Amino acid sequence: MAGNNRTHLETRSIHPGRIAALRQAREAWTQADDPVARLYRRVSMTLSLERLLGTFTEELGQVLPFGQLVYRHRLGHQDFVYTSGMGGAHRCDYQLNLEGANYGSLSLSRRSRYSEDELEAIEFLLGILICPLRNACQYALVEQAALTDSLTEIPNKRALDMALSRDCSIGDRHGDAFTLILCDLDHFKKVNDTFGHVIGDHILKATAKALKEATRDGDSVFRFGGEEFAVMLPHADSRDGQQVADRIRAAISNICIPCGDRQVRVTASTGVAAHRKGESPDQWLARADDALYRAKEAGRNRTHIAHVID
Ligand code: GH3
Ligand code: MG
Ligand code: MG
Repeated sequence: MAGNNRTHLETRSIHPGRIAALRQAREAWTQADDPVARLYRRVSMTLSLERLLGTFTEELGQVLPFGQLVYRHRLGHQDFVYTSGMGGAHRCDYQLNLEGANYGSLSLSRRSRYSEDELEAIEFLLGILICPLRNACQYALVEQAALTDSLTEIPNKRALDMALSRDCSIGDRHGDAFTLILCDLDHFKKVNDTFGHVIGDHILKATAKALKEATRDGDSVFRFGGEEFAVMLPHADSRDGQQVADRIRAAISNICIPCGDRQVRVTASTGVAAHRKGESPDQWLARADDALYRAKEAGRNRTHIAHVID
């Protein structure tokens, strides 16, 4: 196949003059220092929404003075907000649309009025931003989907792996305390066998909600596997972990899903492990898993704390 392509290219060889012209055009494009060429060049180089808006803010600031730029967009199940600078009483707002789809809103505010020429310049530059912005929004959505569990809409195992690696290195570098809780529903197979998978799925969704409600904003909740969840607690030792784990178990035991004339209830077992300096993500997870196993062995519906020294 590669050979065929090559032959095809060779038979349609480009005139050397064309190549020179292309080189010259590329050179001119990469060297051009006008705001339009620079903006086109810079916004085509990133898929990060944050970086894209940072670049746009910088380049717009070279063309006209403005106080504050605010961009807002609902991306999947998250609100994305980007803010730069300080505002004023005069504001212009734009809905950023392309081919019938909306890619957020952008507001520019400052102390003085915007002239017609300035508004035209802003709209012209937004026209350059819109395609890269669409690509960055779509990329952010794909990234979000890859890290989200589709049933419960909370972060998945992949997101947990990333959090474990990140928190291990923060813990090692700065000595911050992190505690991991693994939480596994008890006899969940029996729940499915007795009431069916649809009820089982309702319980999993209610568990994710209960875990989020029982933890603080800075804590993170993950669906780790089928009926297994994980909670990452920053600035927490194993004693704090035990308290949160017990609170989580109490919240889960309060879940009550109606099924015909019966009420379905579940309990959970939890294993708690505080991160030890130098410990790898796998070692940390294995200790939490071992504590969970011991909670199961000891009769379920209880919390077990991992040994500090194995
Ligand atoms: P234990 O107390 O030892 O944890 O027992 P268990 O029955 O909870 O554990 P086991 O590993 O034997 O079974 C887990 C069950 O979780 C089996 C599977 O049907 C159920 N499960 C896993 N993922 C899902 C899901 O997405 N939806 C539903 N409804 N059930 C699931
Ligand atoms: Mg289970
Ligand atoms: Mg399990």
